[in-house]
Amino acid sequence: MRRFLLALVVAAPLGAQANRPADLIVTNARIYTVDDSKPVVAAMAIRDGTIAFTGSAREAMALRGPSTKVMDVSGRTIIPGTVDAHAHLLGLGQSLKTVALYGAKSYDEVIARVVARAKGVPAGQWIEGRGWDQNQWGDTRFPTHDALTRALPNNPVYLTRVDGHAGLANAAAMKAANVTAASKDPSGGKIERTASGEPTGVFIDNAKSLLERAIPPSTREQTRSDLRAAIAESHRWGLVGLHDAGESKTTIDILEDMARAGEFNFRLYMMIGDDSAALAHYFARGPQSALYDNRLWIRTIKLYADGALGSRGAALLEPYNDDAKNNGLLLSAPAHIQDVASRALKAGFQVATHAIGDRGNRIVLDAYDAALKQNPVADHRFRVEHAQVINHDDIPRFAQLGVIPSMQAVHQTSDMYWAGTRLGQGRLLGAYAWRSLLNTGIVVPNGSDFPVEAVNPLLSFHSAVSRQDAENWPAGGWLAEQKMTREEALKSMTIWPAYAGFQEATMGSLSPGKLADFVILDRDIMTVADRDILGTLVVATYIGGKPVYERTQVP
Ligand SMILES: [Zn+2]
Repeated sequence: MRRFLLALVVAAPLGAQANRPADLIVTNARIYTVDDSKPVVAAMAIRDGTIAFTGSAREAMALRGPSTKVMDVSGRTIIPGTVDAHAHLLGLGQSLKTVALYGAKSYDEVIARVVARAKGVPAGQWIEGRGWDQNQWGDTRFPTHDALTRALPNNPVYLTRVDGHAGLANAAAMKAANVTAASKDPSGGKIERTASGEPTGVFIDNAKSLLERAIPPSTREQTRSDLRAAIAESHRWGLVGLHDAGESKTTIDILEDMARAGEFNFRLYMMIGDDSAALAHYFARGPQSALYDNRLWIRTIKLYADGALGSRGAALLEPYNDDAKNNGLLLSAPAHIQDVASRALKAGFQVATHAIGDRGNRIVLDAYDAALKQNPVADHRFRVEHAQVINHDDIPRFAQLGVIPSMQAVHQTSDMYWAGTRLGQGRLLGAYAWRSLLNTGIVVPNGSDFPVEAVNPLLSFHSAVSRQDAENWPAGGWLAEQKMTREEALKSMTIWPAYAGFQEATMGSLSPGKLADFVILDRDIMTVADRDILGTLVVATYIGGKPVYERTQVP
């Protein structure tokens, strides 16, 4: 009811001011509006941060006033601002300050990258890195800390191996962690040692925690600067917002402070991590939408059903094809998912549950089904995050229950090399099956799960339409019958995330009255060959009619 009254109040002045001059008119563009009533236009006018008009340049220019800025974009392509429907903002901020060691061809190169980053870092401050892989070096034995310690004597350094299952520490880090020859191997872990029993610097599996627990937690100010860096990085790739797949109340509080202070221009749809105190707090407060001038939404709970496929943690109905005794792991009791879903329905919240395996997905659908029977809510928009492997019988249930599969197309192209080994051919038919889900009449919002994958939203756009990796492998695409069309893939990173976030009235398309969030690209992603999609450059990103990123040089 309150929403209805607000709409009336807003409608009156809009009518009276319909001919007020625009702030910005964009001309000579190929604008894919994602608005079915006018799908492709050449111009648009923007006023007060929202779209005032889309159509021909002649009509748009009728809104020109003395202070209107006119921008001729030389025939470039414009799409609505893209939104990543599943990503981790703080994780990205933290990974940006971590030294990337991926692809280093020698231990010397690893050390050189860390030394380059260490310039200007005060003595005593920890430096972290990730991605080394001694199998890519001439000598494939594990490294020892000595050379690292000589190069970096004054800062504790901790470098995680590419798979996350081993860490390399220098002497300062081991000193800070009180690790010595007397330290014992924890269960499920191993300290690599010299012949005389001294730690070599490499810590395996559970032994990593001996080092990791010595790393001081981020201060509030560090977290703030990590979040700012992650938002700036997102802008560079054409993102105007994202759905953050689970943060603590502490992090959400910091984001609220930042939004209140006007510190960022970005549309953040938060999912609250599964924590009983946080849930009680937010349920009592009630769902929050479009806070601080459309910067923050807090109305979703993130749950976990199972683990991931690569580490055989995804819960499967039948054992793994390559591990006959293993059905994967359940991270939450099914009753817990149903309980939180019931409470969320009563409190007006959405639930988004991570489910990768076919058993994980079925458990979530069953839990949602039971919760909805107890508390019928027509427009709940409950979500399954990843929805990666689905049993044939469960594919129609998403549409029947009104549950949104929130998928990350780029996971398909990252996993396709080994997914068949884990699952066997039969189960592959329901894996990364966005075409089968779309055919049931529902939407499939797209995302990246960054920093698990790279930030660039076009990676998932490309995977969705080609089902090929960046080298165009395999020819024709992997399980090619599951491809999306370009139009669907564009919707999957604009209007479908908006729908999954209850934002479709203000976001997701370039329609009069909606927020003026858009991206200028150097090529037409709707018509270029599949192999040319990933070369696309973002020329500029606009949020609320204002540039938040502009490329300095466009070839
Ligand atoms: Zn995630």
